[in-house]
Parts: sequence; structure tokens; C-alpha cells
Amino acid sequence: MKQVMKLAIPMLWLAGISAVDAKPIALVLHGGAGVIERSTLSTEKEAAIRKDLEAALTAGYQKLKDGGTSLDAVTLSITMLEDSPHFNAGKGAVFNAAGSHELDAAIMDGFKGRAGAIAGVSTVRNPILLARAVMEQSPHVMLVGAGAEAFADGLDLKRVEPSYFDTQERLQQLEKMQRAEESGAAAAYAPVRYFGTVGAVALDQNGSLAAATSTGGMTNKRFGRVGDSPIIGAGTFADRRCGVSATGHGEFFIRSVVAHEICARARYTGRSVGKAAQEVVRELKAIGGEGGVIALDAKGRVTMPFNTPGMYRAAVDSNGKITIAIFGS
Ligand code: ASP
Repeated sequence: MKQVMKLAIPMLWLAGISAVDAKPIALVLHGGAGVIERSTLSTEKEAAIRKDLEAALTAGYQKLKDGGTSLDAVTLSITMLEDSPHFNAGKGAVFNAAGSHELDAAIMDGFKGRAGAIAGVSTVRNPILLARAVMEQSPHVMLVGAGAEAFADGLDLKRVEPSYFDTQERLQQLEKMQRAEESGAAAAYAPVRYFGTVGAVALDQNGSLAAATSTGGMTNKRFGRVGDSPIIGAGTFADRRCGVSATGHGEFFIRSVVAHEICARARYTGRSVGKAAQEVVRELKAIGGEGGVIALDAKGRVTMPFNTPGMYRAAVDSNGKITIAIFGS
């Protein structure tokens, strides 16, 4: 017995040292939730989506491995997903009812409690960079529409014609939905309105969490409509213990203040962030709010619950375990 104790103490001590030295890092991404089913997703499209998710995951994770900040990791991953036409953010954003694009994005620095957000922009190639500039280069948290565009005029950001964001697929989705609306069958197409939004949450070597979300919103949304993604606390939130990015039917996520609710519930009840996220996503479904979230805690524990048939998602957890998945189990 004594011998075992003698051995156990140095081993624990060693384990303690390595746990401190290891400084967990983690990165989790989503590319939207919704009615994504094997029967409707072609093999080529699935492969293309997986490839772009993996590239964004690899680049963001490398940044963390190199000692970069969680803010830089989420910014890099989101920028790459915005540039991919397969997601509803940046290039490939959905059309609103007026046949144009209005992009929303937000970012939050969980360590310092800073945040930046923009809504309703249509000429900034990477909306997440503008949201970050609002956080770092203005005294404000959120700028919208013409004011956000004017703020971008003073920055060194890539600008584009609004038509840059167009894709044939998104146009067809709009037309289909508008035809359904005219024939009174809009509800049948409601689920396709929300998927493809992108989000990222990261934990860096300093133990800082950051969360970011970028979206074109919902297909056929009314001109001027803003969803949950750029609303701090609803679609995007991070503090020192918890980071969340959401995707789904924004109106429900705003009313339930989903991202903050998850972090607050974990803090106040002592439940894990993972448990709190699962509960909140389940409760959303009960009130008709379809979608999902990605979340991380300060130890780099990943959770990715959703209440829809699928959610594009990718993660590297604190043990280095990689997940890339689309469908439910
Ligand atoms: N939550 C986004 C919105 O309501 C849409 C999405 O996540 O797909 O604007």
C-alpha cells in the first residue's frame, strides 16, 4: 500500500505539471443548421462543404497552435467560410425579399468583455472584419446599414458590388420561396430559410475565449430585418468561462437570448456549459425555435447540440480530437 502511495504522488505531481503546461486550446465551427438530409445533399456538395469546413478548421487551429489569440482564430476561420459560396455568409449569402443581400456579423472577446457587431451591410466582402473593427476601432458595439457602410469607408477593408454575394442556388431558393408564398404554401418551405450561417468559438493558450458569427440572415426576410447572429447575447456571446455561436430561426433565438442564457445558466447553476447548451436547444424546439449552437468552456470542452435534422459542424477539442459532421446521429 505504502509503495503504491509513494508512486502515486510523483505521478499526480507529473500529471499536474503536464496539465498546466498543456494549456488547452480548442476551436469549434458551425456552418448552419436546418433541414439537411442525406437524400437532398449530393455527394459532390457534401464533399465541397466538408472540404471548406476542414480548411477553415485547420487554419484557425494552426493559429491557436502558433500561440495566436482566440480572436484571431475565429476571425480567420469565419473569413474563410465567408469566402466560400457554400455557406450563407459573405459570398453565397441568401437573398432578402427585395432580391438583395443584407449581411450581419458579430464578434466577442470573452476575456476583455469587448464586442463588435454590424447589421444590414451589402458592400463589405468580409462582414466579420467590419464587426471586429467596430469592436477595436470605435467606442460602439453595433453599427447598422448606411452608418456601418460609412464606417467601412474609413477602413482598409475589401469592398465589393452587392452582386458579388449572388449565387444561382440562393436565387433559386428565393424564387421557390416567393412562389410558395404566392400560392399560400410558404410554411412548406420555411425550413430552407435558415441554414448556412457560419460561427466559430475558440480557446487560446492564454485561456481566452472568443465567439463570432456571420450570416446573410433568412431567405426572403423582410428588408431591414435583423436576426440573432449580430445581437450580442442572442446569437453570439463569450465571457471568461463560456463562448457560444448560434444558428437557426433568429427570432426565437433573440427572444430566448440563447447564447447568454447558456453561459449564465452554466454559471448560476453549476451545470456544465455542454449540459446548459443541450437544455436550451431542447427548450427552443419546444417553443418552435429550430436550430443549434456550438459552445466551448474554458477547459476547451466542446458541445454542438441542434434540434434540426442536421448542422454543419467541425471541431478540434482540447485533446486534439477532430470532428467534422453534418447529419444527426
Ligand atoms: N440565425 C440566422 C438569422 O436568423 C439564420 C441562420 O442561422 O441560418 O438571421
